[in-house]
Amino acid sequence: MGGRGSFVNVSAGDFHFLLGGQEYISLATIDNNIKIIVKVGGNTKSVPAPLYSHTAGRIYATVKDGKLKYISFYDENHVQYKTIDFSHSHGGVVPHVHFDLNHDPKLPGVPPSSDDWGVINSVLKEMKKLGLNGSIEISNNGKR
Ligand SMILES: [Zn+2]
Repeated sequence: MGGRGSFVNVSAGDFHFLLGGQEYISLATIDNNIKIIVKVGGNTKSVPAPLYSHTAGRIYATVKDGKLKYISFYDENHVQYKTIDFSHSHGGVVPHVHFDLNHDPKLPGVPPSSDDWGVINSVLKEMKKLGLNGSIEISNNGKR
């Protein structure tokens, strides 16, 4: 993790961490590996998916204003390698997938895979249980 941030208060509730001044808490865990998280400190208007995960191989679903914004995937070194983006259209595709933090708007929009849709649907179901908005915008090839 180097100087990018440190995890704090790991035993509090589910967990709670700080990354580069950005503070997140998790609301729920699905299948032992998917965490639904919200940002609670730092600039809460700008809510990126964390660059690093607390645990290797983790998946984070980042929620902003009660809605799903990103689902991000982390490798064995805790580094984000893939993100499903729900927040905007990319080449008409909503949601779409970004790899290795490359959000180049000139690249074609990549729709989620069927495995990705499995994760998305689990997250949306859990969000409804938490009383959050469990619906997302879907357009073009982002369809299920
Ligand atoms: Zn995008």
